[in-house]
Amino acid sequence: MQTKLGCSNGRSEGASSLSIYPTPNSVAYQNRYGRVKGHVPDENSPLIIIKIAFHFFQKNDSTGNWNFEKTPDQKKRMVQIMDWINTTYTNCALPSDPIPGVSTTLNNSKIKFEVSGYYFYQNSELNISRSRPLCEAAVKKADATRLESFPIFVTAAKNAWGSYSSESILTFYADANPVSDFNFSQHLAHELGHGLDLGHTYDGSQNGVYDGKGDACCPEPIDPKLPDYLSDIFDQPWPNWCNNTNGQPCYHQNGGSCDAYDKNKYCTNNLMGGANWNNYISPMQMGKMRRAMALNTIRKYAKEESSSTTNWMVNENETWDFDIQMYQDILVTSGTTLTITGKVAMANQGKITLENGAHLIINGGAITCWGNLWNGIVLTTKSSLLLDNASIDNAELPIDAMKRTSLKIKGVSMINKKVQENKE
Ligand SMILES: [Zn+2]
Repeated sequence: MQTKLGCSNGRSEGASSLSIYPTPNSVAYQNRYGRVKGHVPDENSPLIIIKIAFHFFQKNDSTGNWNFEKTPDQKKRMVQIMDWINTTYTNCALPSDPIPGVSTTLNNSKIKFEVSGYYFYQNSELNISRSRPLCEAAVKKADATRLESFPIFVTAAKNAWGSYSSESILTFYADANPVSDFNFSQHLAHELGHGLDLGHTYDGSQNGVYDGKGDACCPEPIDPKLPDYLSDIFDQPWPNWCNNTNGQPCYHQNGGSCDAYDKNKYCTNNLMGGANWNNYISPMQMGKMRRAMALNTIRKYAKEESSSTTNWMVNENETWDFDIQMYQDILVTSGTTLTITGKVAMANQGKITLENGAHLIINGGAITCWGNLWNGIVLTTKSSLLLDNASIDNAELPIDAMKRTSLKIKGVSMINKKVQENKE
Protein backbone atom coordinates (compact mmCIF):
# COMPACT_ATOMS: atom_id res chain seq x y z
CA MET A 1 0.00 0.00 0.00
CA GLN A 2 1.61 3.21 -1.12
CA THR A 3 1.13 6.32 0.87
CA LYS A 4 -0.16 9.51 -0.65
CA LEU A 5 2.61 11.66 -2.05
CA GLY A 6 1.36 15.11 -1.35
CA CYS A 7 -1.31 15.22 -3.97
CA SER A 8 -3.59 17.13 -1.70
CA ASN A 9 -3.15 20.04 -4.10
CA GLY A 10 -4.93 18.21 -6.82
CA ARG A 11 -7.48 16.54 -4.62
CA SER A 12 -8.70 18.86 -1.92
CA GLU A 13 -7.77 22.34 -3.09
CA GLY A 14 -8.62 21.58 -6.65
CA ALA A 15 -11.89 20.01 -5.75
CA SER A 16 -13.02 22.49 -3.15
CA SER A 17 -11.92 25.58 -5.05
CA LEU A 18 -13.52 24.48 -8.24
CA SER A 19 -16.89 25.51 -9.39
CA ILE A 20 -18.43 25.61 -12.83
CA TYR A 21 -19.95 28.90 -11.70
CA PRO A 22 -18.79 31.56 -12.38
CA THR A 23 -18.10 30.35 -15.85
CA PRO A 24 -14.58 30.55 -17.22
CA ASN A 25 -14.15 32.75 -20.28
CA SER A 26 -12.10 30.64 -22.60
CA VAL A 27 -13.43 29.45 -25.93
CA ALA A 28 -12.25 25.97 -24.97
CA TYR A 29 -14.49 26.05 -21.89
CA GLN A 30 -17.45 27.58 -23.70
CA ASN A 31 -17.27 25.13 -26.59
CA ARG A 32 -15.87 21.93 -25.16
CA TYR A 33 -14.90 21.45 -21.53
CA GLY A 34 -17.80 23.27 -19.93
CA ARG A 35 -20.28 21.63 -22.28
CA VAL A 36 -22.06 18.34 -21.80
CA LYS A 37 -21.27 17.38 -25.40
CA GLY A 38 -17.55 17.71 -24.70
CA HIS A 39 -17.74 14.79 -22.27
CA VAL A 40 -19.98 12.24 -24.00
CA PRO A 41 -18.03 8.98 -23.79
CA ASP A 42 -17.18 6.50 -26.50
CA GLU A 43 -15.84 2.96 -26.36
CA ASN A 44 -12.32 4.24 -25.65
CA SER A 45 -13.21 6.59 -22.83
CA PRO A 46 -11.59 5.74 -19.49
CA LEU A 47 -13.67 3.98 -16.87
CA ILE A 48 -14.29 6.20 -13.87
CA ILE A 49 -14.86 4.38 -10.59
CA ILE A 50 -16.57 6.24 -7.78
CA LYS A 51 -16.00 5.12 -4.21
CA ILE A 52 -19.16 4.94 -2.12
CA ALA A 53 -19.77 3.87 1.47
CA PHE A 54 -22.98 2.78 3.20
CA HIS A 55 -23.77 4.04 6.68
CA PHE A 56 -26.63 2.23 8.44
CA PHE A 57 -28.21 3.93 11.42
CA GLN A 58 -29.72 1.30 13.70
CA LYS A 59 -31.61 1.52 16.95
CA ASN A 60 -29.59 1.56 20.13
CA ASP A 61 -29.97 -2.23 20.40
CA SER A 62 -28.58 -2.85 16.87
CA THR A 63 -31.96 -3.66 15.39
CA GLY A 64 -34.10 -1.74 12.94
CA ASN A 65 -31.79 -1.33 9.97
CA TRP A 66 -29.83 -4.03 8.15
CA ASN A 67 -27.53 -6.14 10.26
CA PHE A 68 -24.88 -8.08 8.37
CA GLU A 69 -23.51 -9.70 11.52
CA LYS A 70 -26.72 -11.37 12.55
CA THR A 71 -27.95 -12.08 9.04
CA PRO A 72 -25.06 -12.57 6.63
CA ASP A 73 -27.46 -13.02 3.73
CA GLN A 74 -28.16 -9.30 3.92
CA LYS A 75 -24.61 -8.64 2.77
CA LYS A 76 -25.22 -10.80 -0.32
CA ARG A 77 -28.36 -8.83 -1.04
CA MET A 78 -26.41 -5.59 -0.88
CA VAL A 79 -23.81 -6.98 -3.30
CA GLN A 80 -26.66 -7.86 -5.67
CA ILE A 81 -28.09 -4.36 -5.29
CA MET A 82 -24.72 -2.87 -6.24
CA ASP A 83 -24.51 -5.20 -9.26
CA TRP A 84 -27.88 -3.95 -10.46
CA ILE A 85 -26.78 -0.34 -10.06
CA ASN A 86 -23.57 -0.91 -12.00
CA THR A 87 -25.48 -2.72 -14.73
CA THR A 88 -27.75 0.29 -15.04
CA TYR A 89 -24.70 2.50 -15.62
CA THR A 90 -22.58 0.22 -17.79
CA ASN A 91 -25.14 -1.79 -19.74
CA CYS A 92 -27.94 0.71 -20.05
CA ALA A 93 -31.33 -0.28 -21.38
CA LEU A 94 -32.54 0.92 -24.75
CA PRO A 95 -34.79 3.98 -24.57
CA SER A 96 -38.49 3.23 -24.28
CA ASP A 97 -39.15 6.34 -26.40
CA PRO A 98 -36.26 6.58 -28.88
CA ILE A 99 -35.54 9.87 -30.61
CA PRO A 100 -34.46 9.57 -34.26
CA GLY A 101 -30.75 10.12 -34.75
CA VAL A 102 -29.75 9.43 -31.15
CA SER A 103 -27.27 6.60 -30.73
CA THR A 104 -28.75 3.44 -29.32
CA THR A 105 -25.41 1.65 -29.28
CA LEU A 106 -23.80 3.90 -26.68
CA ASN A 107 -25.00 1.97 -23.67
CA ASN A 108 -22.04 2.34 -21.30
CA SER A 109 -21.47 5.51 -19.32
CA LYS A 110 -18.03 4.19 -18.29
CA ILE A 111 -18.94 5.11 -14.73
CA LYS A 112 -19.08 2.48 -12.00
CA PHE A 113 -19.48 2.46 -8.25
CA GLU A 114 -17.39 0.51 -5.79
CA VAL A 115 -18.29 0.05 -2.14
CA SER A 116 -15.36 0.85 0.12
CA GLY A 117 -17.21 0.04 3.34
CA TYR A 118 -20.47 -0.79 5.13
CA TYR A 119 -20.69 0.89 8.52
CA PHE A 120 -23.23 0.52 11.34
CA TYR A 121 -24.13 3.02 14.01
CA GLN A 122 -26.32 2.39 17.04
CA ASN A 123 -28.33 5.54 17.56
CA SER A 124 -32.11 5.40 17.92
CA GLU A 125 -32.52 9.09 17.11
CA LEU A 126 -30.61 8.88 13.86
CA ASN A 127 -32.39 5.62 13.08
CA ILE A 128 -35.44 7.69 12.15
CA SER A 129 -33.60 10.78 10.93
CA ARG A 130 -34.13 12.61 7.64
CA SER A 131 -31.13 14.88 8.18
CA ARG A 132 -28.04 14.43 6.07
CA PRO A 133 -25.99 16.87 8.20
CA LEU A 134 -26.80 14.95 11.40
CA CYS A 135 -25.88 11.63 9.80
CA GLU A 136 -22.72 13.11 8.42
CA ALA A 137 -21.74 14.52 11.80
CA ALA A 138 -22.17 11.09 13.39
CA VAL A 139 -19.97 9.46 10.78
CA LYS A 140 -17.37 12.18 11.13
CA LYS A 141 -17.29 11.66 14.87
CA ALA A 142 -16.85 7.90 14.49
CA ASP A 143 -14.15 8.09 11.83
CA ALA A 144 -13.80 11.03 9.47
CA THR A 145 -11.87 8.98 6.90
CA ARG A 146 -15.10 7.12 6.12
CA LEU A 147 -16.28 10.29 4.41
CA GLU A 148 -13.58 9.96 1.76
CA SER A 149 -16.04 7.75 -0.08
CA PHE A 150 -19.33 9.20 -1.30
CA PRO A 151 -21.63 8.55 1.66
CA ILE A 152 -25.01 6.86 1.46
CA PHE A 153 -26.83 7.23 4.76
CA VAL A 154 -29.53 4.64 5.37
CA THR A 155 -32.15 5.36 8.02
CA ALA A 156 -35.60 4.06 8.88
CA ALA A 157 -37.50 7.30 8.34
CA LYS A 158 -40.86 6.82 6.71
CA ASN A 159 -42.92 7.78 3.67
CA ALA A 160 -40.31 8.67 1.10
CA TRP A 161 -37.29 7.30 -0.61
CA GLY A 162 -34.77 9.89 0.44
CA SER A 163 -32.84 12.96 -0.58
CA TYR A 164 -29.52 13.80 -2.12
CA SER A 165 -26.84 16.39 -2.63
CA SER A 166 -23.52 16.38 -4.44
CA GLU A 167 -21.99 15.42 -1.09
CA SER A 168 -24.21 12.58 0.10
CA ILE A 169 -27.42 10.60 -0.27
CA LEU A 170 -29.89 9.86 2.47
CA THR A 171 -32.23 6.97 1.85
CA PHE A 172 -34.91 5.22 3.89
CA TYR A 173 -34.66 1.52 3.23
CA ALA A 174 -34.11 0.11 6.65
CA ASP A 175 -37.14 -2.10 6.27
CA ALA A 176 -34.93 -4.36 4.18
CA ASN A 177 -37.70 -6.39 2.62
CA PRO A 178 -35.96 -8.42 -0.13
CA VAL A 179 -38.96 -8.05 -2.42
CA SER A 180 -38.08 -4.39 -2.85
CA ASP A 181 -34.34 -4.83 -3.39
CA PHE A 182 -34.48 -4.24 -7.13
CA ASN A 183 -36.56 -1.11 -6.69
CA PHE A 184 -34.11 0.04 -4.07
CA SER A 185 -31.23 -0.43 -6.52
CA GLN A 186 -33.06 1.64 -9.13
CA HIS A 187 -33.78 4.31 -6.58
CA LEU A 188 -30.12 4.47 -5.56
CA ALA A 189 -29.02 4.55 -9.21
CA HIS A 190 -31.35 7.54 -9.68
CA GLU A 191 -30.06 9.35 -6.58
CA LEU A 192 -26.47 8.76 -7.66
CA GLY A 193 -27.46 10.35 -10.98
CA HIS A 194 -28.48 13.44 -9.01
CA GLY A 195 -25.15 13.36 -7.18
CA LEU A 196 -23.53 13.39 -10.63
CA ASP A 197 -25.39 16.55 -11.62
CA LEU A 198 -28.41 15.09 -13.41
CA GLY A 199 -31.82 16.68 -12.98
CA HIS A 200 -35.23 15.14 -13.52
CA THR A 201 -36.67 14.63 -16.98
CA TYR A 202 -40.09 15.51 -15.51
CA ASP A 203 -41.18 18.62 -13.71
CA GLY A 204 -44.18 17.22 -11.94
CA SER A 205 -46.84 18.69 -14.20
CA GLN A 206 -48.82 15.81 -15.53
CA ASN A 207 -49.35 17.28 -18.97
CA GLY A 208 -45.63 17.83 -19.32
CA VAL A 209 -45.99 21.17 -21.07
CA TYR A 210 -43.22 23.54 -20.24
CA ASP A 211 -44.39 26.30 -17.99
CA GLY A 212 -41.01 27.41 -16.70
CA LYS A 213 -42.12 26.98 -13.11
CA GLY A 214 -40.57 23.69 -12.24
CA ASP A 215 -43.42 22.12 -10.31
CA ALA A 216 -41.24 19.33 -8.92
CA CYS A 217 -37.74 19.48 -7.64
CA CYS A 218 -34.85 20.04 -9.99
CA PRO A 219 -35.91 19.32 -13.54
CA GLU A 220 -33.33 19.56 -16.32
CA PRO A 221 -33.44 22.91 -18.14
CA ILE A 222 -35.62 22.38 -21.19
CA ASP A 223 -35.00 25.51 -23.24
CA PRO A 224 -33.41 24.42 -26.54
CA LYS A 225 -31.43 27.66 -26.62
CA LEU A 226 -29.47 26.69 -23.51
CA PRO A 227 -26.08 25.17 -24.26
CA ASP A 228 -26.61 22.08 -22.11
CA TYR A 229 -30.19 21.40 -23.18
CA LEU A 230 -30.48 17.61 -23.41
CA SER A 231 -31.63 17.40 -27.00
CA ASP A 232 -31.28 13.62 -27.04
CA ILE A 233 -34.11 13.41 -24.49
CA PHE A 234 -36.41 16.33 -25.23
CA ASP A 235 -36.12 16.92 -28.95
CA GLN A 236 -38.71 16.36 -31.63
CA PRO A 237 -40.79 14.56 -32.68
CA TRP A 238 -43.12 15.86 -30.02
CA PRO A 239 -45.34 13.20 -28.49
CA ASN A 240 -49.03 13.39 -29.46
CA TRP A 241 -50.18 14.38 -26.03
CA CYS A 242 -47.66 17.23 -25.84
CA ASN A 243 -49.77 20.30 -26.47
CA ASN A 244 -46.86 22.67 -26.79
CA THR A 245 -48.38 25.71 -28.41
CA ASN A 246 -45.45 27.66 -26.98
CA GLY A 247 -43.10 25.68 -29.20
CA GLN A 248 -41.08 24.46 -26.22
CA PRO A 249 -40.37 20.79 -25.64
CA CYS A 250 -42.48 18.93 -23.10
CA TYR A 251 -41.29 17.47 -19.87
CA HIS A 252 -41.95 13.80 -19.44
CA GLN A 253 -44.48 12.49 -16.99
CA ASN A 254 -43.55 10.85 -13.76
CA GLY A 255 -45.41 8.74 -11.26
CA GLY A 256 -44.84 5.12 -10.35
CA SER A 257 -48.07 4.01 -11.98
CA CYS A 258 -47.10 5.32 -15.41
CA ASP A 259 -45.99 2.57 -17.80
CA ALA A 260 -42.88 3.75 -19.64
CA TYR A 261 -43.62 1.43 -22.56
CA ASP A 262 -47.17 2.68 -23.10
CA LYS A 263 -46.88 4.85 -26.21
CA ASN A 264 -49.92 6.86 -25.24
CA LYS A 265 -48.16 8.11 -22.16
CA TYR A 266 -45.06 10.18 -22.32
CA CYS A 267 -43.39 8.81 -19.30
CA THR A 268 -40.14 7.09 -20.23
CA ASN A 269 -37.66 4.62 -18.80
CA ASN A 270 -35.06 7.34 -18.27
CA LEU A 271 -32.89 7.00 -15.15
CA MET A 272 -34.19 10.40 -14.04
CA GLY A 273 -37.76 9.91 -15.23
CA GLY A 274 -39.51 8.95 -12.01
CA ALA A 275 -41.79 6.42 -13.71
CA ASN A 276 -41.80 2.63 -13.71
CA TRP A 277 -38.42 1.48 -14.99
CA ASN A 278 -35.52 3.88 -14.87
CA ASN A 279 -32.65 2.21 -16.61
CA TYR A 280 -31.99 4.30 -19.72
CA ILE A 281 -29.20 6.89 -19.69
CA SER A 282 -28.88 9.08 -22.76
CA PRO A 283 -25.48 9.91 -24.28
CA MET A 284 -25.76 13.52 -23.15
CA GLN A 285 -26.67 12.45 -19.62
CA MET A 286 -23.52 10.31 -19.63
CA GLY A 287 -21.58 13.38 -20.74
CA LYS A 288 -23.12 15.47 -17.99
CA MET A 289 -22.10 12.98 -15.32
CA ARG A 290 -18.59 12.68 -16.71
CA ARG A 291 -18.31 16.45 -16.82
CA ALA A 292 -19.14 16.48 -13.11
CA MET A 293 -16.32 13.98 -12.47
CA ALA A 294 -13.91 16.26 -14.34
CA LEU A 295 -15.03 19.64 -13.03
CA ASN A 296 -17.24 19.37 -9.94
CA THR A 297 -16.53 18.61 -6.32
CA ILE A 298 -17.88 15.05 -6.59
CA ARG A 299 -14.67 14.20 -8.44
CA LYS A 300 -12.95 13.95 -5.07
CA TYR A 301 -14.63 10.54 -4.67
CA ALA A 302 -12.97 9.07 -7.77
CA LYS A 303 -11.04 5.91 -7.08
CA GLU A 304 -7.37 6.17 -7.95
CA GLU A 305 -6.66 4.37 -11.16
CA SER A 306 -3.76 4.48 -13.57
CA SER A 307 -4.20 7.09 -16.23
CA SER A 308 -5.70 5.67 -19.40
CA THR A 309 -3.16 5.65 -22.21
CA THR A 310 -5.91 6.51 -24.66
CA ASN A 311 -5.08 10.16 -25.14
CA TRP A 312 -7.34 13.11 -24.56
CA MET A 313 -6.71 14.91 -27.82
CA VAL A 314 -5.93 18.59 -28.09
CA ASN A 315 -6.17 19.22 -31.83
CA GLU A 316 -6.97 22.91 -31.77
CA ASN A 317 -5.41 25.78 -29.88
CA GLU A 318 -6.99 25.81 -26.45
CA THR A 319 -6.67 27.79 -23.23
CA TRP A 320 -7.60 25.92 -20.06
CA ASP A 321 -8.66 28.65 -17.63
CA PHE A 322 -10.41 26.17 -15.34
CA ASP A 323 -9.50 23.36 -12.95
CA ILE A 324 -9.90 19.87 -14.30
CA GLN A 325 -9.33 16.32 -13.08
CA MET A 326 -8.06 14.07 -15.86
CA TYR A 327 -8.48 10.30 -16.16
CA GLN A 328 -6.34 9.83 -19.27
CA ASP A 329 -3.13 11.04 -20.87
CA ILE A 330 -3.11 14.22 -22.93
CA LEU A 331 -1.71 14.57 -26.45
CA VAL A 332 -1.14 18.00 -27.94
CA THR A 333 -0.92 17.44 -31.68
CA SER A 334 1.53 18.92 -34.14
CA GLY A 335 1.21 22.67 -34.66
CA THR A 336 -1.25 23.06 -31.77
CA THR A 337 -0.81 25.27 -28.72
CA LEU A 338 -2.26 24.37 -25.34
CA THR A 339 -2.17 27.17 -22.77
CA ILE A 340 -2.86 26.29 -19.15
CA THR A 341 -3.77 29.05 -16.72
CA GLY A 342 -5.86 26.91 -14.35
CA LYS A 343 -5.01 23.76 -12.47
CA VAL A 344 -4.82 20.37 -14.12
CA ALA A 345 -4.77 17.25 -11.93
CA MET A 346 -3.45 14.15 -13.68
CA ALA A 347 -4.23 10.52 -12.82
CA ASN A 348 -1.55 8.11 -11.62
CA GLN A 349 1.29 7.76 -14.13
CA GLY A 350 -0.49 10.12 -16.49
CA LYS A 351 1.54 12.05 -19.00
CA ILE A 352 1.23 14.99 -21.35
CA THR A 353 2.91 14.49 -24.70
CA LEU A 354 3.74 17.30 -27.10
CA GLU A 355 3.95 16.06 -30.66
CA ASN A 356 6.49 17.32 -33.09
CA GLY A 357 5.85 21.06 -33.38
CA ALA A 358 3.29 21.26 -30.58
CA HIS A 359 3.44 23.97 -27.93
CA LEU A 360 2.55 23.98 -24.27
CA ILE A 361 2.38 27.24 -22.36
CA ILE A 362 1.78 27.12 -18.63
CA ASN A 363 1.14 30.70 -17.70
CA GLY A 364 0.22 31.09 -14.05
CA GLY A 365 -1.17 27.59 -14.16
CA ALA A 366 -0.34 24.36 -12.40
CA ILE A 367 -0.18 20.69 -13.20
CA THR A 368 -0.25 18.17 -10.40
CA CYS A 369 -1.81 14.80 -9.61
CA TRP A 370 -5.05 13.88 -7.89
CA GLY A 371 -3.96 10.50 -6.58
CA ASN A 372 -0.40 9.31 -6.68
CA LEU A 373 2.44 10.65 -8.85
CA TRP A 374 1.87 11.49 -12.49
CA ASN A 375 4.65 10.98 -15.01
CA GLY A 376 5.27 14.43 -16.47
CA ILE A 377 5.50 16.31 -19.75
CA VAL A 378 7.16 14.64 -22.72
CA LEU A 379 8.52 16.95 -25.40
CA THR A 380 9.35 15.57 -28.81
CA THR A 381 11.38 17.16 -31.58
CA LYS A 382 10.55 20.78 -32.32
CA SER A 383 7.93 20.98 -29.65
CA SER A 384 8.18 23.82 -27.19
CA LEU A 385 7.36 24.40 -23.57
CA LEU A 386 7.05 27.84 -22.05
CA LEU A 387 6.69 28.03 -18.30
CA ASP A 388 5.88 31.36 -16.70
CA ASN A 389 4.92 31.38 -13.03
CA ALA A 390 4.01 27.77 -13.40
CA SER A 391 4.07 24.88 -11.01
CA ILE A 392 4.60 21.30 -12.06
CA ASP A 393 4.30 19.20 -8.96
CA ASN A 394 4.26 15.56 -7.97
CA ALA A 395 5.57 14.26 -11.28
CA GLU A 396 8.03 11.39 -11.64
CA LEU A 397 9.95 13.34 -14.25
CA PRO A 398 8.32 16.76 -14.65
CA ILE A 399 9.90 17.55 -18.02
CA ASP A 400 11.37 15.01 -20.38
CA ALA A 401 12.88 17.05 -23.23
CA MET A 402 14.44 15.47 -26.27
CA LYS A 403 16.87 17.30 -28.51
CA ARG A 404 16.00 20.48 -30.35
CA THR A 405 13.04 21.29 -28.23
CA SER A 406 12.59 24.76 -26.93
CA LEU A 407 12.31 25.20 -23.20
CA LYS A 408 11.74 28.61 -21.62
CA ILE A 409 11.37 28.83 -17.90
CA LYS A 410 10.51 31.75 -15.66
CA GLY A 411 9.32 31.65 -12.07
CA VAL A 412 8.72 27.94 -11.98
CA SER A 413 8.21 25.71 -9.01
CA MET A 414 8.70 21.99 -9.26
CA ILE A 415 8.23 20.08 -6.11
CA ASN A 416 9.51 16.55 -5.58
CA LYS A 417 11.44 15.80 -8.71
CA LYS A 418 14.20 16.93 -11.02
CA VAL A 419 14.11 18.23 -14.56
CA GLN A 420 15.85 16.04 -17.06
CA GLU A 421 16.99 17.08 -20.47
CA ASN A 422 18.22 14.41 -22.84
CA LYS A 423 20.84 16.11 -24.90
CA GLU A 424 22.86 14.38 -27.58
ZN1 LIG B 1 -34.89 12.46 -8.13
